[in-house]
Amino acid sequence: MMSKPRVLAIANQKGGVGKTTTAINLSTALAAVGETVAILDLDPQGNASTGLGVGVSERTGTTYDALVDDVPLSSILKKTSVPRLFVAPAGMELAGADIDLLDDPQRHYRLKRAIDRLAAECPDITYVLIDCPPSLGLLTVGSMTAADAVLIPLQCEFFALEGLSQIMRTIETVRARLNPQLELQGVVLTMYDRRNNLSADVEADVRAHLGDKVYRTAIPRNVRISEAPSHGKPALLYDLKCAGSQAYVQLASEVIGRERAA
Ligand code: ADP
Ligand code: MG
Repeated sequence: MMSKPRVLAIANQKGGVGKTTTAINLSTALAAVGETVAILDLDPQGNASTGLGVGVSERTGTTYDALVDDVPLSSILKKTSVPRLFVAPAGMELAGADIDLLDDPQRHYRLKRAIDRLAAECPDITYVLIDCPPSLGLLTVGSMTAADAVLIPLQCEFFALEGLSQIMRTIETVRARLNPQLELQGVVLTMYDRRNNLSADVEADVRAHLGDKVYRTAIPRNVRISEAPSHGKPALLYDLKCAGSQAYVQLASEVIGRERAA
């Protein structure tokens, strides 16, 4: 049976909320249960690439080349230390992609075309996870246009709900104009601190607004999670037993459950 990969955009216009950490560790957990996963690093900072051990000098082809120069994603994917997990690295030049594509009226569809081609060339891939940059510009909108569903990491802090309504409006706009099939996979609470009253208050608010769109699993704040990237590996490989890694394993099973239902 030939089926298309499920494409998930990991997005939130705020920086430092756990997008990249979620992309890396959710992908690792998916690969661990037998999925073949490609992470597309769409943040010019390239943190997902670094966190998976692909240094700047190894980034011979990047997502910029795929997006702007039609280089096939299949030719730029790099192996990682995780079996069945591949990454399409990002470079700083990606920061100029929106300007470089300004004259292309089809620019929002370029990533979708690149992923469709990847699916045809690499039929083994079952999941594509896109690590979006901290903005709602072309790279994020193009990711949502290419995606089946959006997964929003949300840090439980004071302005979390304002940020959430902004990204929800963007999802609505993309659905109306560019990708009618787009769904919200879910919202994952990140860097959750159960001793902090604010975390609990924000959690209650978000759950009241979005109901079961919020995953049951919250990712706890965990020092092992923050140490892992400097070792160039996912937290799941660095310390599988830590609370953060275990939370990502649980999140993966919720994500798979929703994808099977979709
Ligand atoms: P984003 O991609 O949204 O900018 P990151 O995933 O890079 O966010 O996370 C921001 C910072 O917070 C990083 O230094 C990361 O290691 C750290 N971090 C993310 N999740 C956790 C967690 N659950 N516990 C502790 N630190 C975390
Ligand atoms: Mg990031």
